[in-house]
Amino acid sequence: MKELVIISGKGGTGKTSVTGSFAALANNAMMADCDVDAADLHLLLNPEIQETHEFYSGHEAVIRPDDCTGCGQCEELCRFDAVISENGIFRIDPAACEGCGVCVQFCPPKAIDFPEALCGKWFISKTRHGRMVHARLGIAAENSGKLVSIVRKQAAQVAAALQAEWLLIDGPPGTGCPVIASITGAGAVLIVTEPTLSGEHDLLRVLQLTRHFEIPSFISVNKWDINPGMTERIEAAAAEAGATALERIPYDASITNAQIQGLSVVEYNDGPAATAIKNLWEKLCHHL
Ligand code: SF4
Ligand code: SF4
Repeated sequence: MKELVIISGKGGTGKTSVTGSFAALANNAMMADCDVDAADLHLLLNPEIQETHEFYSGHEAVIRPDDCTGCGQCEELCRFDAVISENGIFRIDPAACEGCGVCVQFCPPKAIDFPEALCGKWFISKTRHGRMVHARLGIAAENSGKLVSIVRKQAAQVAAALQAEWLLIDGPPGTGCPVIASITGAGAVLIVTEPTLSGEHDLLRVLQLTRHFEIPSFISVNKWDINPGMTERIEAAAAEAGATALERIPYDASITNAQIQGLSVVEYNDGPAATAIKNLWEKLCHHL
């Protein structure tokens, strides 16, 4: 099985449109949406959920009202202002609780429970292009790196069971913990970028990561014709950083129009962007 992670230095570069198109072009692919903070691959692949699993991470404090004496210790000790008191009744705001456990430790009558915190859900679904693992992080929930690892691991297991030829992963943007969780040990990475100064800056930061983890890296400049000079500069910088520049994708309103229709651009039409993405896919297949 060949594993390809599609990432970008920041959001909104067209990474998910490329991933959705690859899902349509690949034979026997398994997909994973590891961009759990802003998941949107499901908008293109319209998954039909087959299995739902809960994602727990860390702990949250919960006061048992019947056992609380109203001493106010927890409110005094909480450094995150998560304890709310109204008319002598104490409760904890789950969105503000950081799960440090201090109030649990020091509550005189031990009236605070400390269960694991439900931070989101992850799903195994069917799509028109194959199976997909994806997730929904709860509001204000953190620790997305852990959820990314779960999504990726589960997708790899399902892909192995189905003997999928490809595991296509829509990775998170940036260079933080979720990105590291999505690319560590990956077969190859495609970085989708844009021809802007910030695009170049973000790309070079991502390439530091992929070089550190010794992952074969490819880049594709989306909307390259908006600034051909910057495109050349980015491709040269990428080559210097050890990455291979592949097909460029021209600006094409079809990408947005396809998203509105819930389709990948290669399913939507045979316009310039669709043609470029097909060429990009062929070149990747050749390299991998
Ligand atoms: S420390 Fe315990 S007993 Fe005191 S107000 Fe908080 S929950 Fe109630
Ligand atoms: S666990 Fe920590 S953050 Fe949460 S309410 Fe208690 S003291 Fe505040």
